[in-house]
Amino acid sequence: MFALTGIGHLVTNDETVGQGKLGVLQDVALVANDAGNISWVGKQSELGSHFDGKPIDVGGRAVIPGFVDSHTHLVFAGDRAREFESRMQGKPYAAGGIKTTMAATRAASDDVLAANVARLASEALASGTTTLEVKSGYGLSVRDEARSLVAAKTATSETTFLGAHVVPPDTNADDYVALVQGEMLDACKGNAKWIDVFCDRGAFDVDQARAILQSGAAAGLGMRIHANQLQQGGGVQLGVELGVASCDHCTHLSQQDIDALSGASANTVATLLPTAELCTRSPFPDARKLIDAGVTVALASDCNPGSSYTSSMPLVIALAVINMGMTCDEALWSATVGGAKALRRSDVGNLRVGSRADMVVLDAQSHIHLAYRPGVQQVRAVIRGGKTVFGSL
Ligand SMILES: [Zn+2]
Repeated sequence: MFALTGIGHLVTNDETVGQGKLGVLQDVALVANDAGNISWVGKQSELGSHFDGKPIDVGGRAVIPGFVDSHTHLVFAGDRAREFESRMQGKPYAAGGIKTTMAATRAASDDVLAANVARLASEALASGTTTLEVKSGYGLSVRDEARSLVAAKTATSETTFLGAHVVPPDTNADDYVALVQGEMLDACKGNAKWIDVFCDRGAFDVDQARAILQSGAAAGLGMRIHANQLQQGGGVQLGVELGVASCDHCTHLSQQDIDALSGASANTVATLLPTAELCTRSPFPDARKLIDAGVTVALASDCNPGSSYTSSMPLVIALAVINMGMTCDEALWSATVGGAKALRRSDVGNLRVGSRADMVVLDAQSHIHLAYRPGVQQVRAVIRGGKTVFGSL
């Protein structure tokens, strides 16, 4: 059991208890129980009847829910610094760069893959991410996808089978789609909660994506899709048609895509990944238009060695506010509740009584500073399941 006092600004994400969309409370205390869940939030003067130990005083700092990063690719080996350098010299991003990482991943041992996941998961934790989705997708063979998911599972229960990332070199696309739906799915489904397909130029078309997602769903996996990152296409509308938990990227959308997402907002989230646009010098998705149309928007890092080699959710939030027209409140909501909805979770992404005690103590008076002071480390401590897992209090 532990208690925090002196919370100057608490984001609960519960509109029924606090101000605005983020349910902000001021000058409060919070108690977590031994099971790692929030058991009480209220006025500091009333703490005594809910907690009898020594509380930790956070000195007026802001406390926010831990970030829920619902889209990462942490299972890989090697890096692509040279490719990044050449892209910054003017070469455009193409999905084919994935094949470079495939070769390095296939050559790496299980221990090397797990160590890479652990390294990046702890980097994410240090910037405030307490829930992480991790995809396979750089093995692209039955053996290497299966062991990629074993590595993913060492860091999270939110694991995603992305055998359909690209068609590996020297492979017939139809044969590969059949392999993903058959033998590869069978080898991977035991360690995967989700199935995902990269439905875009240079990857898989709508019919292939539909077939793969439906096979995954038949095997008991939840569905998600990479859609409309590189150009307009049928990915988003396919995602809505199938009722996927999240359509990710949503960079190039038609009005019909936006209408489809807004009609499905209770079921299908649009997850925006602005560091992918930042790192490829591409136009940012129009978050303002999506939110104004009633679409549920999540923000995630897309952490991967090619197009977005960052795990920083504070950076994602700053881009969303500064470059994508989101308000400070909307961006934090999308990086917490939005991510949780993209994973169909309600126990994380908020600080309601009964939810996980996953939170970030900021070296700032409010969450506004996340966007106001881009690039500055403002995470003082990270608490997950009621335990301090980064920093100190
Ligand atoms: Zn991705």
